[in-house]
Amino acid sequence: MPEAETGEQSAYETAQSQLRQVAAKLGVDPGMVEVLAHPKRELTVNFPVRMDDGTLRVFTGYRVHHNDARGPVKGGIRYSRMVTLDEVRALAMWMTWKCAVVNLPYGGAKGGVIVDPRSLSARELERLTRRYASEIDIIIGPAVDIPAPDLGTDARVMAWIMDTYSMQVGFHTTGVVTGKPQILGGSLGRREATGMGVAFTIANAAKKINLSLENARVAIQGFGNVGYFVGKNLQNMGARIVAISNSLGGVHHANGLPLEALHQHSLKDRDLSNFSDTEKISNEELLALDCDILVPAALENQVTSDNADRVKCKIYAEGANGPTTLEADRILEDKGIFMIPDILANSGGVVVSYFEAVQDRQNLFWEIDEIYKRMENTMHQAFEEVYATRMKENVGMRTAALMLGISRVAEALRVRGLYP
Ligand code: NAD
Repeated sequence: MPEAETGEQSAYETAQSQLRQVAAKLGVDPGMVEVLAHPKRELTVNFPVRMDDGTLRVFTGYRVHHNDARGPVKGGIRYSRMVTLDEVRALAMWMTWKCAVVNLPYGGAKGGVIVDPRSLSARELERLTRRYASEIDIIIGPAVDIPAPDLGTDARVMAWIMDTYSMQVGFHTTGVVTGKPQILGGSLGRREATGMGVAFTIANAAKKINLSLENARVAIQGFGNVGYFVGKNLQNMGARIVAISNSLGGVHHANGLPLEALHQHSLKDRDLSNFSDTEKISNEELLALDCDILVPAALENQVTSDNADRVKCKIYAEGANGPTTLEADRILEDKGIFMIPDILANSGGVVVSYFEAVQDRQNLFWEIDEIYKRMENTMHQAFEEVYATRMKENVGMRTAALMLGISRVAEALRVRGLYP
């Protein structure tokens, strides 16, 4: 829901407020806070693409580097009609904290193009991607900025970016993107990593509140890469997916939905309500459904002060980036809901992206079991560190995660010192 409709802060305003509140709590030097409040570098590109019918269209795209104190910057590329520069700035800042929370040697970045990818043919999408990649290639590269898939992009888009970049520099450069197809040096396990990581953090949270996952009722907003794999992994842990939705709306069944059959259906027909033996449910109703675990896995600003009061779950795990406004955050906290914030919950994607970059550098590829084991260890450690901060500081899980992430970045900045 756009902020204008909710009357609440934009994602960028939320990200700024979070930084300022948490930095004040941590006692970060005000000058340092200003450094962290500003993206290091922002690139806006307006570029032409020849459409299949021969006409020429101009598209606008962005790539923002938030902070590189801890290493090269990393973050997804989003294709959506809703992309704005402010949204990309917010997402880049959250990437900085996320990489720090899971202790990866990366800073944060994000990119986006204002386009509905479903409105383009495959050839148009390829031309748009290649032109966008060549426009931003001045600031991407394996040692500088490594993009990955996000909303509306996938492994195929990453392959085109990798090929375009390799053509420009004149040699094969697998390490310029992660989330590539495996045949081009992509890591096993990357596609399912984000959703699986969300499920790992939910399992950790369930232990903390003594909730059994066996038969636990799960509602998921968003049936894309993240939503599907959260559902699949929670189902494997014994939970029931009682509701799931996409941008057209969703379906509900109290005994649990046959997720795989529904996924196959959604590949052919995006209207989930055409799937037999289920009840139709709107996105608003899904967010207010009585359930044990609620996973927003679609867009920003979905749970706001307008509907947070109606949320009825025990664990709220942010598969999406920024699905909850600041005000809604407070309401959920007051209701005693166990919150797993985005920068922890959905960090599995960037964790396996990091593994992909490590494997690319070594030209040595790991078995899937090793990837899952390393990912589970990394996420488990991050979860426990955030939880320990929460207990020690007597704050919510989001504040605890931000405290951990922001303090690590501020410390890296301090130790590096100021150039020149
Ligand atoms: P995706 O494009 O694969 O799927 C998005 C899903 O959300 C689709 O089912 C779409 O129909 C649905 N959706 C869109 N608008 C909606 C609306 N208004 N109401 C309900 N559903 C709506 O994207 P994804 O990769 O699954 O990303 C989803 C979220 O997870 C984004 O916030 C993204 O930034 C975040 N995320 C993704 C990754 C990743 O590895 N893909 C990693 C970390 C975070």
